[in-house]
Amino acid sequence: MQAEIISIGDEITSGQLLDTNSQWLSQRLAEMGVRVLYHTACGDEIEPLAAVFRQALARADVVISTGGLGPTADDLTREAVAKAAGRKLLLDRKVLQQIEQLYLRRKRPMPKRNELQAAFPEGSRVIPNPHGTAPGIDLEVPRPGKGPSRLFALPGVPAEMRQMWSETVAGALRKAGAGQRVILHRNINCFGAGESQVEAMLPDLIRRGRTPTVGINASKATIILRITAEGATEEECHAAMEPTAQTIYRCLGDLIFGEGDDGLEHAVTRLLRQGGKSLATVEWGTAGLVADWLGDVAEAEGFYLGGMIVTDDVAVRRALHVPAELLVKHTSISREVAEGIAGGCRAQFGADLGLAVTRFPKADRDAPKPYYVALATSGGVHFRKLLYAGHPSLLKIVAAKHALNLVRLEMLNKP
Ligand code: ATP
Ligand code: MG
Repeated sequence: MQAEIISIGDEITSGQLLDTNSQWLSQRLAEMGVRVLYHTACGDEIEPLAAVFRQALARADVVISTGGLGPTADDLTREAVAKAAGRKLLLDRKVLQQIEQLYLRRKRPMPKRNELQAAFPEGSRVIPNPHGTAPGIDLEVPRPGKGPSRLFALPGVPAEMRQMWSETVAGALRKAGAGQRVILHRNINCFGAGESQVEAMLPDLIRRGRTPTVGINASKATIILRITAEGATEEECHAAMEPTAQTIYRCLGDLIFGEGDDGLEHAVTRLLRQGGKSLATVEWGTAGLVADWLGDVAEAEGFYLGGMIVTDDVAVRRALHVPAELLVKHTSISREVAEGIAGGCRAQFGADLGLAVTRFPKADRDAPKPYYVALATSGGVHFRKLLYAGHPSLLKIVAAKHALNLVRLEMLNKP
């Protein structure tokens, strides 16, 4: 079963509104094992819209549209569906009554235009909309030489669309044979090596046609290995993925920091709790990003003691009590300053671990200059010299991840 999702409205094609309905519906369909092959967006114009529906009904087994079901002149979905399917629009008396009653309850006169919302292409079923005036359309359209295509037209308002999906559409699709198979994903998150480096460390897992499939993805220096399995039950999928996951763990070892929605801040928090260690931070270039992330992890309370943001030498001297000559002898982007402020931070907070990020150099893609992260512990201070050649807008995020990763590796090596 293959699906196409159509989002309707000038708001979307003009870029004013992000089409989150298609994203949400795609996720729901994937959970049912229905592959979405097309996302189509179309502005509010009748002929192009009818053409989009015609094309979708020809090439997809399931078509779901959102938007354009309202009563205003720019709401053309009913008419476009009727045109594409070659059906007449007929007034549904029962739906009309419901809409009239809705206005009666709201103690408002029903505008004449709203009658339009009771018009349905001949042969369609009505999808109730408990919280809006616009009911949806459920229509089967025969195709020459193939089974029929099933169309569901839903309103654009996300809350109404979602409720109608859960209460009516999902069940109808299941009845039609979807959702017999389960598709599950398992994401394994790594940090500390590049995408191709990670791929080279794995045996031939990322090839087409392998089951379960393994995909590799890089997102802001985090490498994600995504295992996908299909089966009759969730248990079957989990069992099918497990040997592949074990292979990945065996090959990548400490590069792996977590799974699913786990970020480095969650991994670091777990390790701090396990080791009974406390952490404090001082951030120059990252300007508090590490603190922000750790601040979002409820379990970090009591283990993450706090952080400082510094933006010049004076602040460093006053807040961290590092010797004045440190900043005279060394530039603010140096190993020595990184180590000095990490130690100062550890002392000021009375933490087991003091983590520091130095100032960033000016972005230069062709000749990237270094910055430093350092971690002060009871056993001494160690540092990492880092170079960044990616897009400047991501530097803070990548640096914050390197800083957290330094803590993670420290905690792994000294449990
Ligand atoms: P209404 O009866 O409210 O007019 P409708 O079915 O005609 O419903 P639209 O007019 O197309 O729907 O959209 C109504 C609102 O729903 C939009 O202003 C927007 O806020 C939201 N919306 C529409 N389409 C989408 C979409 N694809 N993704 C996210 N939000 C959407
Ligand atoms: Mg509308």
